[in-house]
Amino acid sequence: MRTDVETLLKELVDQALAHQAPTRGQALELLATSDDDLLDVVAAGGRVRRHFFSNRVKLNLIINMKSGLCPEDCSYCSQRSGSKAEVLKYNWIDPTDAAETADQAIRGGAKRVCLVASGRGPSDRDVSRVAETVLAIKNRHPGVEVCTSLGLLTVERAQRLLDAGVHAYNHNLNTSEAKYREICSTHTFDDRVDTVAVARDVGLSPCSGAIFGMSETDEEIVDLAFALRKIDPDSVPINFLIPFEGTPLAGQWQLTPQRCLRILALFRFFFPDVEVRIAGGREIHLRSLQSLGLHLANSIFLGDYLTSEGQSGLADLEMIADAGFVVEGLEETTLPEARHDLVTIRRRGPGTAIPANI
Ligand code: SF4
Repeated sequence: MRTDVETLLKELVDQALAHQAPTRGQALELLATSDDDLLDVVAAGGRVRRHFFSNRVKLNLIINMKSGLCPEDCSYCSQRSGSKAEVLKYNWIDPTDAAETADQAIRGGAKRVCLVASGRGPSDRDVSRVAETVLAIKNRHPGVEVCTSLGLLTVERAQRLLDAGVHAYNHNLNTSEAKYREICSTHTFDDRVDTVAVARDVGLSPCSGAIFGMSETDEEIVDLAFALRKIDPDSVPINFLIPFEGTPLAGQWQLTPQRCLRILALFRFFFPDVEVRIAGGREIHLRSLQSLGLHLANSIFLGDYLTSEGQSGLADLEMIADAGFVVEGLEETTLPEARHDLVTIRRRGPGTAIPANI
């Protein structure tokens, strides 16, 4: 390893263990490291991951409650308005069917169930449907975390979700503020930031992440990392673009497994004690290097997700065991104590001061 890279990685590890984000310069240097340095980069990120999360891997399941037919035009999304992609299109699955799907995944080790629906945002009726589904799942598995990802949110609807037993709310920033208008014209970056704030302020655990592989520059990746750090999410899903035929980004295969690992390492350094989750595109982009990704991320989706076929759940469990990791149990707390307390503090209500040292 070159001395400059060795120094960079040592600095990044020391800062992350002290909860400090990389500087812009360090972040850009990390993204520019060569493939020859990749294992050292993974090992450095892995030290931080092990410090805060040991060898545990949290498993998550996505249930697609409503698919396709979206009026928004996010260019990465197969469910966007005008999409010619061959995806299932349906309106709201039955709560009992959703609970049965969740049942199987929880028996397979899933600890969080993410209820996802296409659309700009939920109506009051949609929130009632989701609340029914949450109840059906929690009746069978009180300890499971339910996350919802339903689009833009009002305070009232966020509060209703919290009251229904929802633990977390997902709304990804996806890409940098400067790039956002290139990928979507029907809502803004600020709309997304506002929804994460609404969810957090009512006491939902904020989950917000990114998609890479949309021609973003290293500078834009770093801008996004800083923007995400500013909204202080408890979990950060990292998606790698699956460029569906029939969407504007069809054919855009820009990522290599090595680039994906450098991005994951960067996000581990930016979010040392936060749940970093490898989300869409894991199999197709990390390919045979998926298990190296586990040394950086502490969370993955199990099996199939959203509109693409993921690797089967059994293969995921084998990969986790082969790489020396263990599946996190329902009774275990994912986040380190300080972060967990932060969620409790938020639950005390909007405006509660967050301690400066967290
Ligand atoms: S709002 Fe959601 S479902 Fe609709 S196009 Fe955007 S990402 Fe896809």
